[in-house]
Amino acid sequence: MKILNVGAGLSGAVIGRKLAEAGHDVTVMDSRDHIGGNCHTARDADTGVLVHTYGPHIFHTDDEEVWTYVNGFARFRPFQNRVKTTVQGAVYALPVNLHTINQFFGKTLRPEEARAFIAAQADTTITDPQNFEEQALMTVGPQLYEAFFKGYTVKQWGLAPHLLPASILKRLPLRFTYDDNYFFHKFQGMPEEGYSPMIAAILDHPRITLTLGRSFAAPDAETYDHVFFSGPLDSYFDYELGRLGYRTLDFERFTAEGDYQGCAVMNYGDRDVPYTRITEHKHFAPWETHSRSLCYREYSRAAEPQDIPYYPIRLADEKALLARYVALAQNTPAVTFVGRLGTYRYLDMDVTIREALDTAEMFLQADQDGRAMPAFAVSPL
Ligand code: UDP
Repeated sequence: MKILNVGAGLSGAVIGRKLAEAGHDVTVMDSRDHIGGNCHTARDADTGVLVHTYGPHIFHTDDEEVWTYVNGFARFRPFQNRVKTTVQGAVYALPVNLHTINQFFGKTLRPEEARAFIAAQADTTITDPQNFEEQALMTVGPQLYEAFFKGYTVKQWGLAPHLLPASILKRLPLRFTYDDNYFFHKFQGMPEEGYSPMIAAILDHPRITLTLGRSFAAPDAETYDHVFFSGPLDSYFDYELGRLGYRTLDFERFTAEGDYQGCAVMNYGDRDVPYTRITEHKHFAPWETHSRSLCYREYSRAAEPQDIPYYPIRLADEKALLARYVALAQNTPAVTFVGRLGTYRYLDMDVTIREALDTAEMFLQADQDGRAMPAFAVSPL
């Protein structure tokens, strides 16, 4: 079959590779002039530092098959994300752990003492948290919430935390040990040369044709048997029902001599600091040596039509609109919507790869059984 994958990010590459290996001819098309989508990495000409062009991406997973898969296309180096945060004139470790608690409250608590101390601060009247704020007050209490989560979250999402879902905070653990690894997954690392060479290796197959710098238009689909679309779901329908809301990011790039901040990610929790964090990219590749440094100050705001979409907002209004686009998609034969933008979900890289592998498998199975491939392998709702 002739397959068109719109988008040369992880979804497009992984699906393309699996279908090419099964004997299909795959064209992977991207409107950008590079592969990798928002995982794209490039070496900065000025400093020589490997840059995560669209913000930091750290690979972490419990999925052994996905870990084996990525290691088949790149050499991974061990990497653990240790995030710091500057709040109220002091630097603390994230995620909130025993060190953060002892430092913040000026104490020397042991794990069980800290657990009891935090439990005494937590709001016990909340048993079924309905939003981000309630989730925070229930788990860490008002002081840690105000310091570490409230200001950062207002900057990141542009909304009061009581309007945001509790699920956003659930991404972050609370630990009563000194473990300050941001993630708790079994496998964590970074591709030695960055994500773009890894994705180039995935795309490197004789049955895959890559077309960069070309935007998809509806007539493109006509010459293909099936389309896997990893662009924004609403864009496929020319936004005919309106636009799904996203947060976008502005990066203010600056260079420094030597070491600027001593870590890869420094968050800024205070509301009156306009940026959410500063990332220092050479610390994402600690096996490299560079005399100079490249940093990004990161600002979050509502995405306008011309902006790059980053975080799907997924509040009640967006979900209602999403449901209507899902219905449209389900009436569109021979197109499957995949990935973060195609399904309008926050997706980690490992989940994106897992879903892409499963989607390709589902397609091959449907083809074998003579069944139609659905519009979504995973429901966006
Ligand atoms: N968050 C926060 N303070 C921090 C870091 C994160 O309040 O210092 C909140 C914020 O609302 C954010 C969420 O926790 O959106 C999830 O954080 P994560 O680090 O997973 O954000 P991402 O890497 O997706 O930007």
